[in-house]
Amino acid sequence: MTNLDSVLAQVDANFDDSLKRLVTLVGFKSISTDPDYKEECQKAAEWIANELNGIGIDTRVHETPGHPMVVGHDSDTADKPGPHVLFYAHYDVQPVDPLELWDDDPFNAKVFEKDGVKMIFGRGSSDDKGQMLTFVEACRAYKEVHGSLPIAVSILFEGEEESGSPSLLPFLNAHKDELSKDLALVCDTTMFDPETPAITTMLRGLMGEEIIITAANRDLHSGAYGGPAANPIKILSRILADLHDDNGRVQIPGFYDGVEELAPDVKAQWDALPFDDAEFLRDVGLSIPAGETGYSVYEQLNARPTCEFNGITGGYTGSGFKTVIASQASAKISCRLVGKQDPDKIRENLRAFVEERLPADCSVDYIEHGSAPGHSLSADFPPLQKGAAALKDEWGKDTIMMGMGGSIPIVSEFKDILGMDSMLIGYALETDNIHSPNEKYNLESYHKGIRSWVRVLAALAE
Ligand SMILES: [Zn+2]
Repeated sequence: MTNLDSVLAQVDANFDDSLKRLVTLVGFKSISTDPDYKEECQKAAEWIANELNGIGIDTRVHETPGHPMVVGHDSDTADKPGPHVLFYAHYDVQPVDPLELWDDDPFNAKVFEKDGVKMIFGRGSSDDKGQMLTFVEACRAYKEVHGSLPIAVSILFEGEEESGSPSLLPFLNAHKDELSKDLALVCDTTMFDPETPAITTMLRGLMGEEIIITAANRDLHSGAYGGPAANPIKILSRILADLHDDNGRVQIPGFYDGVEELAPDVKAQWDALPFDDAEFLRDVGLSIPAGETGYSVYEQLNARPTCEFNGITGGYTGSGFKTVIASQASAKISCRLVGKQDPDKIRENLRAFVEERLPADCSVDYIEHGSAPGHSLSADFPPLQKGAAALKDEWGKDTIMMGMGGSIPIVSEFKDILGMDSMLIGYALETDNIHSPNEKYNLESYHKGIRSWVRVLAALAE
C-alpha cells in the first residue's frame, strides 16, 4: 500500500468511531444566538479542543466577549512542504424552532436510512459540525498511520458564525501573527450535487448605496408649480434608467474594471452543467432572462456583477390621489461585485454619475449601506488545481469550480486582515435542510469528505 492508501484504509477502519464522535458533537446544544445555551457552546468548544489535543494538535480555547474561539496548531509544523494551512469551520448551530416540525430530537443524533441513502440526523450534523469533523478525522487517520501530517496545519473553529460573528474581527486582529498562514481551507459549503465535488471559487461582493435627491424646498402643488419646478422623481427615474443599457450592461464608468471573463475551461465546465435556465426562472414565475445578454443564467448569477434597485420612494403613494410635486425622491441601490471590482471606487463613480445628471438647483445626499469586495480564486492558483485533482480522485468526477451569488464574510476577512486566500471545499448538499427542521448529513458526505481531506492534504504537500 502507498502512504496515501494506508491513510485512506485507516479512515475506513475508523469510520464507526468517527460517526460516534459526530453524534457526540451534535449532542451539544450550541445555539450561538440564544444566551440560554452559552454553557453548551462552551462545552462544545472544550470537547472539540480536547479531541484536537488528543491527536497532537496543540489547541486552546480562547474566551471572547461572546462564545469561545478554538485555535490549534499541529505540534510539528516545521520544515513541511507545501503551504501552511489554516482550517476554518464553526461549532455553533442555528436555533431549532419550530421544534414540532422535527421528526425527532434535533440534538439526539441518529443514523437513519431513506430511499437507500444513509444519513445522520440532527441540528449541525451538516452545518457545520459534520463538515468540521471531516477535517479532524482526516488528520486523525494521518497521525495514526504516519505520526504526522503531510503539511503544516493550524485550526480556527468559531462559535458565533450563525449569529453574525461579532467576536471574529477583533479576534483576527488581535491574533494576526498567530493566524496568518499561506492558505485558508474553509469547510462550510456544498457539493454541486451528491455525486459531483465542487470548490467554491467565486463569491460575489456587495456595495450598497442610498441616493436621496432634493429639488424644491417643500412639496408643491402640481397645478401651481407643475412645469417650471424640477420634479425629483423624474430626475431620479432618468438616472436609474441610464444605469443600464439595452443589453443589461451597467453604465457607471469603470464599473467593469477588475471583472474577468471566465477562464475557457471553467466556461466549458459551466456550459456543460445540468443547470436548467428555464426551470430556474419558472420556479419564480418568470421565463425571460433579464441580465446581461451573452451570458448564461448560471454565469449571470455567479460570475457577473449587477446593479439592482431595491427600493424607491417619493411623492404620494397612499390610497387615492394627490397632485403633488414631491420635494424629495430616493432609491436604494445594491451592486453585487465580482473579481477585483473595487467597491469604494464604484461608489465614487456612481455618485459622479448621479451628479452629472443632476440639475444645478437640486441637491443629492447619500447613505452608505456597506461594502465588501468579491472573492475569486484564479483558475491557475496551484492549490486550487491540486485540490480539484484530489477531489476528483475520491469522487471519480471532475471537480466543478462553483460560484456563489452571495457572500461569505469570513473569506474577505481572511483576505483583508490575514492576507490569505481561502479555498472553500464542502460536502454538504442543498437537500441537507441546513437551518431548517430535520437537518441531516449523508454518511457518504461524511465518509468521503474525510477521505477527500486526506487526499487534499497529500496533494498540497506535493
Ligand atoms: Zn455554516
